[in-house]
Amino acid sequence: MPQSPKSHAELAARVAELEAERAMVLRLAQTDSLTGLVNRGAFSSGLCERMDAARETGAKVALFVIDLDRFKHLNDSLGHHAGDLLLAELGRRLRDDAAPGELIARLGGDEFALVSDDPDPAARAERLVSALGQQHFIYGRAVSPGGSVGVAVFPDDAQDAADLQHFADMALYRAKSGGGRRWSRFDARLREESERRRTLEDELRRAIPAGEIEPWFQPIIDSMTGRMVGVEVLARWNHPEKGLLAPAAFVPMAEELGLIRVIDEAVFEAACARTAPWVAEGLIESVACNVSPRDLLDPAFSRKLIGRLAKTALPATALTVEITETFLLQDLALSRRHIERLAAKGVNVALDDFGTGYSNLRALMHLPIQTVKLDRSLIDDVGRDSRVSKLVASLLHAARSLGVRIVAEGVETEGQALFLRSAGCERMQGYFFARPMPADAMEAILREQNVPAPRLAAVG
Ligand code: C2E
Ligand code: CA
Ligand code: CA
Repeated sequence: MPQSPKSHAELAARVAELEAERAMVLRLAQTDSLTGLVNRGAFSSGLCERMDAARETGAKVALFVIDLDRFKHLNDSLGHHAGDLLLAELGRRLRDDAAPGELIARLGGDEFALVSDDPDPAARAERLVSALGQQHFIYGRAVSPGGSVGVAVFPDDAQDAADLQHFADMALYRAKSGGGRRWSRFDARLREESERRRTLEDELRRAIPAGEIEPWFQPIIDSMTGRMVGVEVLARWNHPEKGLLAPAAFVPMAEELGLIRVIDEAVFEAACARTAPWVAEGLIESVACNVSPRDLLDPAFSRKLIGRLAKTALPATALTVEITETFLLQDLALSRRHIERLAAKGVNVALDDFGTGYSNLRALMHLPIQTVKLDRSLIDDVGRDSRVSKLVASLLHAARSLGVRIVAEGVETEGQALFLRSAGCERMQGYFFARPMPADAMEAILREQNVPAPRLAAVG
């Protein structure tokens, strides 16, 4: 049966309704619900449109990327709801401050962006920083998170939107690492750095399958006997032209590029293959491996690691996985699950870089961690700064009463070694004993060590 014909007016009204609905859905899809600003998707297309228009007219487009300096801290101390209020308030401020025609977006988290045709980007950036530095009242409390700004300008700095964003991000990073509450503009120095990084990135992608990244080893010493009882695996990149590169030269970039997992797996596999015979022969008891904090956020991390370990000849009880506290605190429940899963297989978990962050021994008591590595920065001042010496001594005391083993990292002098031993530190690692070295050298030294290491003998 044909439907009764609607009047022309009825149809027109329905079409208008649908149009309005469509517009609203479109607006919602482009809006960040917390701040009412445009969201990342709409921002990207908005930026491209403005760049296209500027290409025609010869105008300039300045991109400002904005990041709050202390947002995470505020969020942690005041709670997520307060954090949301602050972001909403900030969105309002930025919008009120904007000139007509400027595009303001929230890109996610505490990251905002502004696209402007202001002919004086420096002055505009200055105004942004001062707007971000103002006080806000959240639950009646004055907070002042402060923010940093990175600037890049089309067409002076970059020709396409992806480069422009990348360059503004680099400038932002420089502003933040300069202490925050400031702005920075992309310049020749950053351009050089970006080119260097691009080359390095290509080389890194090639280096992994080429096997240029290999495990080196640094011994861990038993303080009482002076014997090397374990090794820590440290990645090295045997670069064909640049020579040997330490992790600082490639691990952060590998993390950014999502390559760290492949590197960690390759290093882990090679390290297990080399060290399994050492453990089997009784040359060492344990092998410590580093894992990337980001990797640990993968819920399947511990299961995968156990799976990979099972394919090697290294017994689970000989493996220590070193994790950093940044990860631990990010997701305590997940940390616990990983640590428990590993512990159930006999894998030991060590907390790396202890003393650099926020975690305290009390937090540790709630996690089944058996080993803590005292960071080099603390050891550096041991014996030099009496307050640090006291702190380390009391940490060692507390750890003993909790049944946690402490490994002191970065022991460089005999004085430090003596102090740590007398304070009851069971294990030490550092240049005083040995620097990291390739597998063959490590193996040779381990085979010779039936007599106590001569240098440590001097300690006693
Ligand atoms: P880390 O785990 O804290 O490793 C200890 C670092 O201190 C190593 O630096 C080691 O060479 C250095 N070190 C040891 N003894 C001394 C000393 O007495 N004095 C001084 N000044 N330094 C000492 P390295 O090898 O450059 O590694 C740096 C960081 O890179 C490591 O810190 C670890 O977090 C990371 N890393 C190393 N290998 C890997 C890896 O295979 N995967 C991942 N994800 N990260 C790795
Ligand atoms: Ca480590
Ligand atoms: Ca460490």
